[in-house]
Amino acid sequence: MNSIEIASRKIDKGERLNFTEALALYQHNDILKLAELARMVKERKSGQYVYYNVNRHINLTNICVSGCPLCAFGCKAEEQRAYVMQKSEVIEIVSQTMRETPDLSEIHMVSALHPDKPFSYYLDIVAAVKRAAPQVHLKAFTPVEIVHFANISQLGITAVLEQLKAAGLDSLPGGGAEILDDSVRKIICPNKATTAEWIDVITAAHSLGLPTNATMLYGHVETIEQRIQHLITLRDIQDRTGKFQAFIAFPFHPANTGFTNLQRVSSWEDLKMISLARLVLDNFDHIKAFWMMLTLPIAQLALTFGADDLDGTVVEEKIIHAAGATTKKGITKKEIISFVEETGYLAVERDTFYRPLKISSGVKSYG
Ligand code: SF4
Repeated sequence: MNSIEIASRKIDKGERLNFTEALALYQHNDILKLAELARMVKERKSGQYVYYNVNRHINLTNICVSGCPLCAFGCKAEEQRAYVMQKSEVIEIVSQTMRETPDLSEIHMVSALHPDKPFSYYLDIVAAVKRAAPQVHLKAFTPVEIVHFANISQLGITAVLEQLKAAGLDSLPGGGAEILDDSVRKIICPNKATTAEWIDVITAAHSLGLPTNATMLYGHVETIEQRIQHLITLRDIQDRTGKFQAFIAFPFHPANTGFTNLQRVSSWEDLKMISLARLVLDNFDHIKAFWMMLTLPIAQLALTFGADDLDGTVVEEKIIHAAGATTKKGITKKEIISFVEETGYLAVERDTFYRPLKISSGVKSYG
C-alpha cells in the first residue's frame, strides 16, 4: 500500500495523520483526491453548513517598532501614511457601524506595535468599545501585540490578558503565527514575538477562558516540512487546551514588503493548503477560507476543499491591502450567501462561537 492509500484509509477511519503521511498528501498531485478527502472530513464536522459572520475590522495604528520585512502595513511615525486613532474616532466607527449594520456581531481589532502608546491606551479603547457595543463580541490583539503590551507595561503576559479581559476583550484572533519556526521568523519578522512567545500567549489566553484562532502565513521562505510541522504544533496545543476555534491559512502577498522578489503562490497551492489543514487538524472544528486573502473565487472553491467558513463582511481592512491584495475591502451578506449557495451548501450566519444565527433558505436552483 502506498502512503496515499495509507493516509486515505486513516482519514476514512477518522484516525490521525502523522508528519510523513501529511507530507505525502501534500506531495500528491491528484488535487481532486485531496479535495474528496478534505470535503468528507468537512462534512463529518459541519455537514452542509458553511459559516460567515457580520464583522467590522478596525486597525488602530500602522506605526510600528518592529519593521518586519514581511510587512507592508507597518511604518515609521514620520512617514506620510502613518496614523494613530484616538479613542473618540474608534467609538465613532463602532457607533456608525452599529447604525448601518444592525446585524453586526463582531469587532475585529488588530494593529501595529506603536512605540509610545502605553498599555492604558489599549485598555481604554477596549473598555470604551465594550461600553458602546456591549452585545458585540470584541476579538482583538494578536499574540505579537500581547507580547508588546507585556514589554511596555512590565506586566507579564497573563496579567496583560487578565486586564484586557476585565476591560471587555472576548477573544484573540491568533494572528502573527506566520510559521512557528524561529529559523523562518529570523528572516521574515526578526523583531517580533518568537515561536515560544506566540505559544505562551495562546496557552495563557486559553487557560483564562479566552478562545483564539490559529493562523499560518505561507508562501515566503518556509519549506513544506515547516508548514506541516506548524500544523502539527497547532494540533498539539489544541490537544492540550481545546480552545482554538478555527484555523486560517494566509497566502503571503509580497507587494510592498521586503520580499518583492517573490511571487504570490498559485491557487493550486492555496487549495492544497486548505485541504491539508482540514486533514491534519483533526481536532479543529473549523477551517476558514479568508476570502480577502484568497480572493472570492478561490475562497468559494476552497469550500469543496474542506473549508467551512468564509470569515465575514469585514467592511474595511487595511493590513492585507497594504501588501497588494486586490480584493474588495468588504462584502455584503447577500453576496456571501450567494457564493455559498452556488456550491450547494447552506450559508449560516454565525456568532464568534459558531452558534448559528440565521441559516440561508437553501440551495440555488438551476432547473
Ligand atoms: S507584521 Fe506586525 S509587528 Fe511586523 S512590522 Fe507589520 S505591523 Fe509591525
